[in-house]
Amino acid sequence: MYRLLPLSVIALALACAKSPDSDSTMDTGRAATAVATGRDGAAPITSGAPTTEGTMAPVSGGGAPTNPASATGASTGAAVIPGTANPARVPNEMGRIMVLEYHIIGDKDSQYGRERGHFRRDLELLYARGFRPVTMNQVLDRKINLARGLSPVVMVFDDASPEQFGYIDRNGKLETDPRTGMGIWLDFQKTHKEWGNTAVFCLLSGASAGHNFFGDKGIGGQKTEWRFPKIKWLADNGFELCNHTLWHAQLSKFPDAFVQQQIAQLQLAVDSAVPGYRIRSMALPQGLWPKNRALASRGSWTNPKDGKTTSYNYEVVFEVAGGPMRSPYDPAFNGLSTPRVQVIGNVIEQTIDKLEKAGNLYISDGNPSSVAKPAAVAAR
Ligand SMILES: [Zn+2]
Repeated sequence: MYRLLPLSVIALALACAKSPDSDSTMDTGRAATAVATGRDGAAPITSGAPTTEGTMAPVSGGGAPTNPASATGASTGAAVIPGTANPARVPNEMGRIMVLEYHIIGDKDSQYGRERGHFRRDLELLYARGFRPVTMNQVLDRKINLARGLSPVVMVFDDASPEQFGYIDRNGKLETDPRTGMGIWLDFQKTHKEWGNTAVFCLLSGASAGHNFFGDKGIGGQKTEWRFPKIKWLADNGFELCNHTLWHAQLSKFPDAFVQQQIAQLQLAVDSAVPGYRIRSMALPQGLWPKNRALASRGSWTNPKDGKTTSYNYEVVFEVAGGPMRSPYDPAFNGLSTPRVQVIGNVIEQTIDKLEKAGNLYISDGNPSSVAKPAAVAAR
């Protein structure tokens, strides 16, 4: 099945590029369709649209996926994250936090791909250098409750590709594919108990070529009916769900109403999979802002079919680049323009080195009730 993927990978990778000029023909085709259907209020663009999801048959005979994390439970963001203190590192809770941006976890490194062995190595590197993953919700709620000397890192996975979270059907029992990003993540946890289920997945539910709640129609070996169980499993196990629009539309190219439809329809799709789930963040496809920037985080759309209005109001808009973000305790912190570090080459190591050298890395003091400030900052 992976033989089918290169075209989709290329299409999505191109679609993820910041330049609007990098449109693939596939994207252009979809965009044209979308404009037409969007204007006349017809049904959404692809088969993955919420209207069809609502009538989807439940999973039959698959059983619950088995994962070590589901048995052990997961951090919900409220509890103190366990960890081994490192008194050698000086706490600084005004320092910067890396928000790492991943796309495909697969066979090779590319601008929008991380070879799976290198992804595993990223986890090892982060762990060894004192980082533990937190969700964006924990950052927003100022619940970065790490042991003294540890640093938070926000791991974000864009585009909902099958390579990020795949299942294998073993005689009717679904297992997480160990070669996908989630498989590697869960395996890493077996030997690194402090590594929680704390990552952010910025989802598409209606994009082509399998970028549709982690694969559909057999793409990447993934069955369409596995889509909702995967989303629910993520939410049930502590992972954070984020809006990346319905089908990765370049929001800068569309009218206000269409921008809101793209965002609202993804939210509806997530609500179908996990009723009542509160999304608090969105990631701009290709980093492109809508003409009316405010609509990226706040808006509403009324479905012409049933007259129902869906509203959204997010606290975080992820950019595609920009370096490490500010601490939520920094007065200049602005969730509505959250920069990220796209994982290419050895950028993680370079960024850590730079922040450590400058004394500008967020390092926890292990005390949730106080904010550790280095002398230079505290004196201001
Ligand atoms: Zn994307």
